[in-house]
This record gives sequence, structure tokens and C-alpha cells, in this order.
Amino acid sequence: MSVELQEMVHFHLTGKRGEGELEDVAKPGIRSALLASYRDLEKLRYDYPLVLVEGNDEDAFVRTLSGVVDRLLQKIAPQGIGGERVRTHVLRLEAKMRELLSADTETSLSRLWALAEEALLSASSEAEAELLRDSLTIARGALQIKGQVIGCDESTPVRLLQHAWTVVEAERACRALEKINTLILKLGDIVKVDDLKSAGARTPQNLKNSLGGRYQDAFDFELMSRLLNQAVPQSMVPPARRQRIQLALAVLETQKFFASAGQSDKRIQNKTQYRFVFSSVANALKAYRERLAEMAELIKAITIAELEIQNRYRESKHDSFLRRLDARVLAKADLLFFPSYLICLNEEDCGARVQAELMEIFSAELPMKVLVQSCDLLGESALQSGHTPHGVSGQRLANMVAGLGDAYALQSVNSNLYQCRDEIRRGLVYQGAALFSVFTGSSEATPDLPLYLSAAAAMESRAFPAFSYDPAAGQDQATRFSVRNNPQVEEVWSHHRLCYEDEDVQRVSEDVAFTFVDFVANDRRYAEHFADIPRDSWTADMVPVAEYLSLGDEQVGEMVPYVLTVDGEDILHRLVVDDRLIRAARRCSEHWHSLQEQGGINNSHALALLAREREIWEREKEQEIAKLRAELSQVGVAAPIAPEPVERQAVVPETAESEQDEVEPAAAAPPSDEPCIETPRCTTCDECTDLNNRMFAYDENKQAYIADVSAGTYRDLVEAAETCQVCIIHPGKPKNSDEPGLDDLIKRAALFN
Ligand code: SF4
Repeated sequence: MSVELQEMVHFHLTGKRGEGELEDVAKPGIRSALLASYRDLEKLRYDYPLVLVEGNDEDAFVRTLSGVVDRLLQKIAPQGIGGERVRTHVLRLEAKMRELLSADTETSLSRLWALAEEALLSASSEAEAELLRDSLTIARGALQIKGQVIGCDESTPVRLLQHAWTVVEAERACRALEKINTLILKLGDIVKVDDLKSAGARTPQNLKNSLGGRYQDAFDFELMSRLLNQAVPQSMVPPARRQRIQLALAVLETQKFFASAGQSDKRIQNKTQYRFVFSSVANALKAYRERLAEMAELIKAITIAELEIQNRYRESKHDSFLRRLDARVLAKADLLFFPSYLICLNEEDCGARVQAELMEIFSAELPMKVLVQSCDLLGESALQSGHTPHGVSGQRLANMVAGLGDAYALQSVNSNLYQCRDEIRRGLVYQGAALFSVFTGSSEATPDLPLYLSAAAAMESRAFPAFSYDPAAGQDQATRFSVRNNPQVEEVWSHHRLCYEDEDVQRVSEDVAFTFVDFVANDRRYAEHFADIPRDSWTADMVPVAEYLSLGDEQVGEMVPYVLTVDGEDILHRLVVDDRLIRAARRCSEHWHSLQEQGGINNSHALALLAREREIWEREKEQEIAKLRAELSQVGVAAPIAPEPVERQAVVPETAESEQDEVEPAAAAPPSDEPCIETPRCTTCDECTDLNNRMFAYDENKQAYIADVSAGTYRDLVEAAETCQVCIIHPGKPKNSDEPGLDDLIKRAALFN
């Protein structure tokens, strides 16, 4: 054992550095190696910025800026060389909007567009500006979406959820107002008709006014009034009914629960409409309780109105029923008529009292939607006290709520909110309480990472996995609980391809797992749990954390676990990890495993059942074979010495050449399964060739083509397709069915095939 290895083992076991070469890692710029290529997010096309869509856009309340631009280009830029100019110009505009938004975290799409257009035009030569202006004018004319554009920061979950809630509640208000206004109109008609029959409506003056100026002198209105009052019956509506109708009308006309979208803000200011968005659970509960009596009054008024309009109100029957209808007997269907309450909280606000109030909301199925936002999974005492991140209150609450059975729960991270948009909407329209637990990342904990990356790293490393529990989805856990939003959901850790240059300036490419320890390595507060090992001391006894965690105690021997990081200059480092962090990573993977089980992945009950069934099947097979042997030996035929293997063998039929010729074309993969590049459209941006220069190469026109598909993985193809700014790489279908994370990759590839 070399001196270095002794020191590494000592550090790993005790967390203490000796006198040797173990270096500190508390340097600025250190980040997990897999995050090295994301230093400049503005240059990438990814889910952010988001456009909070105003109005009705095919039911989408949010779109990505890239998605908006892609849809626009499909409309205005024909495929191929014909649409190339417009496409290039609009993609430049998108890049500029992304850049401008980083300085201004929220603005409208139209303003951002105008600013980006102005910036591009002012930086162009006169000749270029003319063509650019032409392309951008065409694009602006076709842009039909309006809305605010937001980046990924601490305020994103509140803005996004509030926007989604507003959209959902506007739909509810629209339905409710339509009903209320129709009832007001019809009840009003009953009163108006009755008024017309009253003596007051037939005074000489009223008759004169109703006839108009031209004939006013031709009639004796005194006489007409007298005659009409004698001939036409007086009011038809009995006083009790009239009073009931007028009371119902007054309640309907002064209700404070609904307003049309354009009037809502003004009415809230004037206090003629209630507010439903809160930042305190206690205030939301207080408002809800105080409004219950008014809610009952409105339901009562609607019931009276419906019965009266259909002339079905029977005092003997309905009076006593309506007397009993108060806040205590409101049914779930009645509550669903009213707006839900949105409560936005930070994890620090969720002390014991607030948690108790929240549990009251979730257990009583109150119509409340609660956002709990966490920004620091590795707070001061998290690891010191032995708590793994799933112990933080947002996660704990989400687990508890999912366990209640009747409340909706969604847990995710900021970077994944767009992917969870359907789940967000489902939670908001769900008829009971819903919890949204979101991790945003913290600029204090990981100052070297943009919040988007910090949040994505938490989900990727299983430190803050995504899941949803939707009681409305079905009757069983399999339909209600889902972990499908996580990357490579079947795996313990997600794997990614890491490409780097070694000391001999050779390109090296390897599959690297992104573990909980990789997530912690980005947090400078945990620097003392890592020791930087100089390159000349790297040994075969150092193993990646994921591999180390998969080994049993007896296999570990004197191996030490490490993670790969890069410093500010992108130099690769191996950091040995202390045992405390390894134990935390084990707990994190156990927690992830239990979520997988709930989501039906690697479920221990299902696996045990499968093993039992296999055993029964094999036993029965053996019995059948033994019986066959016995029968054959009875009729004097020798039985085979050993049974045929159960597994299917590849059978190569010995057929005539002509038959083989017929078979071969059918076996060939269809052309659409093959990866390809639309080479003539390549803009020579180097993205794909930088990613894998053996798989992708340039032709004599300096345009990319696939030189050797076997020189990389399917992941390389998919990632190249995702980074290609003109979307001309089509990854086809995977060749190697054993490649890790294929399910996720195939889904991602579908966008480009
Ligand atoms: S094919 Fe490669 S080089 Fe060409 S535009 Fe796409 S990513 Fe860039």
C-alpha cells in the first residue's frame, strides 16, 4: 500500500487530513465534472426562459421560449434551404432574448422581443440589417402568443403556480359567472313582468312615457290608466315569493367570490371581491372559515333561483330544507363551485404550528393548494446531524400528504417545472387539497452554479426526486403514484457521458454516474468532506462513488470512493469522499429506492412474486419433462440425456439461398430508425463535433455528417441532437439495447426523429 493510499483510506474513514498530499477543495469554481459543459447556460436552448401564456393557447398555460420559436419557425420558415435565412435570424433573436432576460428577470414577450430586435439590428451592418429586419418582421407578424417571460430563479415556482392557478380559476369563474348571470337575468324577468302588472306601472305618466313622443297627444292617458287598472289583474306574485326572489337576487348580485378576468384586480382593490392568494396558512384558514356562511348563502340563493325559474319552489317542502342549509352542511360539490385558495410558503415558514395547520387542510380535504418552496437541502446541520435531504420539511410534507390517500401531492425541482406542467394543472383542478413541494436551489449554498443547474443537480442525483400522487387518477397505487419525471427512472443513479482530454491530449469518453455525493460536491460548505488527490497519486484502488456504493463490505477492502470535479479552469480532479458522506449517499439511494417501489419500479413485492412464479414454472416444466421421459422409455425410445435449454436459441434455418434472400430485407432496420444529419443545413457550429469528434465529422464543405455511428453511444446522438441549434440531427433508434437509461433517451430522441 502506497503512502498516498494510506492517507486516502485514513481520510475516508476518519474525515481527517494527514500531513501528506491531501489537498483542500474549498476553491472557487469547483463543480461536478458532469456540469462542466454548462458554464454558459445562455448559449444553450433549454426549458428556460418560460412564457406564461395569456389567454387560451390550446390549453397551454406555459410554453418554453424555444418552443414558441420552434412553432413560429414551423409556420414561417419552410424546411430546407428555402427557410434557412429566416430560421437563422429568428434563432439569433431567441439567443439575444435569452441573454437580455438574464439581466431583467421578468418582462413581457413583446417587450423582450422588441429589445432583442433593436439590439441585433443596431449591431448589424446596413446590408445585413435589411435582411435581418425583413426576417424579423415576418416572424413578429406571425407571433400570436402574449405573456410574461420568466427566468429560473427563487421566485419562479410562485410566479408559475400563481399564473397556472389564475388560469384554472378564471375558467371556474367563467362557468360560475355564466350561471349566476343567467339566474340574475331570469329572476329579474320574473320581477319585471310582475312590476308591469302592478298599478304603479299603469299610472297615466308611465303610460305616456312608454308610448313615445309622436302619439302622446292622441291619447287620454288618465282614462287609459283607469280602464287598464280595472281590466288587468294586479300583481300575480304572492308577497312571500316576491320577497324570496328579491333576497336571492340581492345575494347573487353582491357575491364577492367571482369576477370576470378583466375586473378581478380592480374589484379586489375596491373590496368588492375576495382575495384567494395567501402567504400565511393561518390567514387562509381564517378567511375560509369567515366566508363559509356567505358561501352557504350563495348556494341557497342559487337553489332558490333555479327552483323559482322552473316554478318548482314548494314552500311546504323547500322552506325547511333551505333553513337547514348553512355553513355546516355544505356538500363537497357545493365547495367545488367556489374558488380554491392558493397558499405560497417558504420552507422556513413551516414550523410545527404551520405543519399542524397544513395537516388539517390536507386531512379535511379543504379546497386549498399549497406551495412549499425549499432552497437549501444541505443546510448547516443536515449532514452533521445525520439527516439526509429527504428529512427537510418540504419533502417530509410531500411524503406525508401522499400517504394520506385523499390529497394531491407533487414534488419537483425548479428546472423541471415545465416538464411537470400537466401535473401542476391536475393538482390545481383536483377537487380537494393539493401540495406542491418545489426545490429551487440556493445562490448562497452553491454560488458557482446557476439556480437552474443547482435544482437540476438535486433531481438528477436523487437528492430531491420528483414524484406525483394523484388520487383522481385511479383506484390503486399503480395509477396514482408516479416517479416518471425523474431521469433514468429504473436506475439507482442516472448516468451520463463525460468527455475530456487526458494528460496525453487524447480524448477520453466514459460513462459517469451522477450521485448524491456529486450533488454535495458543488456545495462549498461541505468542502471538508472531500480531499483533492493530485493526478500522479491516482491509483486503481480509487473507485467512483456509484461503484463503491454497490460493493459489499468484504469487497470494499482498501478501496476509496471518489467523485470527479472540475475547477474554474476546467481541470479534472478526483476528490476522495469521507465515510459520513458515503453513509448519507446510501440513505439517499434507499429513499430513492422506496420511491421507485411506490412507483412500481423494482418493487420488492412484485419481484418476490415473480421469483416465486418462476420457481413454480420451472418445477412444473421439470415434472413434465420427467413424465415425457418415462413415457418414451416405456415405448422403447431413448430419451435425450439432458432437457433442452429453456432459453430460446437463435435459429438459423438451413434454407435454400432464395429463401434466405427473402428473409434478409425484412430483417434490415427501416431507414427511419437510422441516425442521420441534414448535412446541407449544417451551420458548422462545432457543437456535435465537440461532443464526439469520431462519431461526427465535417465534410469538404465544413458541414457535419455522421462519420461512425459506432464511435459513441446513443446518448451521444441524442445529446448532439439536443444541442444542435438548427435541429438537423435525427438520432434514429438505439443500436445497443443494453445502454443505460434508454427509456429516457428514446423519449428525448422522439422530438428530433
Ligand atoms: S450538425 Fe453539428 S455542427 Fe452542424 S449545426 Fe448541428 S450541431 Fe452544429
